[in-house]
Amino acid sequence: MLVTEMLKLAPSAEQCEALLATMRACNVAANHTAEVAFEHRTANKIALQKLMYADLRAEFGLSAQMAIRSIAKACEAYKRDKKIKPVFRELGAVAYDQRILSWKGRDRVSILTLTGRIVVPVVYQGRWLATTGATMRGQADLVYRDGAFYLAAVIDVPEPPQGDEPDEWLGVDLGIVNLATDSTGEAHTGKGVRAVRRRNARLRARLQAKATKSAKRLLKKRKRKESRFARDVNHVISKHLVGKAKDTQTGIALEDLEGIRDRVTVRKAQRADHHSWAFHQLRTFVTYKAAITGVPVRLVDPRDTSRTCHRCGHCDKRNRPNRDDFKCLGCGFAGPADYNAAINIGRRAVSHAADDAA
Ligand SMILES: [Zn+2]
Repeated sequence: MLVTEMLKLAPSAEQCEALLATMRACNVAANHTAEVAFEHRTANKIALQKLMYADLRAEFGLSAQMAIRSIAKACEAYKRDKKIKPVFRELGAVAYDQRILSWKGRDRVSILTLTGRIVVPVVYQGRWLATTGATMRGQADLVYRDGAFYLAAVIDVPEPPQGDEPDEWLGVDLGIVNLATDSTGEAHTGKGVRAVRRRNARLRARLQAKATKSAKRLLKKRKRKESRFARDVNHVISKHLVGKAKDTQTGIALEDLEGIRDRVTVRKAQRADHHSWAFHQLRTFVTYKAAITGVPVRLVDPRDTSRTCHRCGHCDKRNRPNRDDFKCLGCGFAGPADYNAAINIGRRAVSHAADDAA
């Protein structure tokens, strides 16, 4: 299974200069290409290569592969929205592949710069690189952030063989109030994440009113800190859920993503928050951690999981008078809505298993 991991590089002062110069040149080249693409109204990579390739190599000193990568970057961005001319940041991420990046063991990486290849030490940040049997691919994005260099590197992690079909499935309901609630009733709140977000939103409003350069910088820093925090929380929750499934020899059942949108009735602002990357990230983390640990994951039909009573099966919209509570009109069962949903999700995985066997 391929995972992407942010690895920190530790270049020397001289290497820093070489990397920065390369990033600048690649982004200037991409901007230049974007201008031409926009002017000619074409996102055709072959056509743009014909137009730009020789120029980019001569003018910006790019290697063949870097020129092609820069053209591709401009093409893809322009293709996404042809109404605007893409503009890349001076030190925006630069994509590398195995022709211009290669690993020297696990703690050094050879990177092509404008002035030739340099071998840069890698400070481990990833858990996957240390996993037995994990292999590195040449694909990576070179990222410059807060004065440091990182590689968003693609790592191939071997998946352990999956054992027998589990008899039981841990149903997991992903939500807003609680980021994740499982069918044993355990809930992981997003309280900390929401508090940080609210605090940052207030700060943002204040800083935006100022609109100075330093305010903008501070805003950006805050935003990143917030993402890192949410990411950490997601790592902790997903690790816990997968560990729990592993220990109890159950699989993990999640709702098929499609249905989530329909069954959540919240204010728009919250919905934006809910559908943000952090929410998807938690699913992704659960899925890949489970794969690596050998815990099966099953996606189930999410229809009516939140309005069906897990005790008597009575299904009615009115069983859920508000977002947080469930109260069955059939048998009178009352409890947290997400807990009831998680049980339904876990059970659906069992019936899916029976369908598969039939
Ligand atoms: Zn009931």
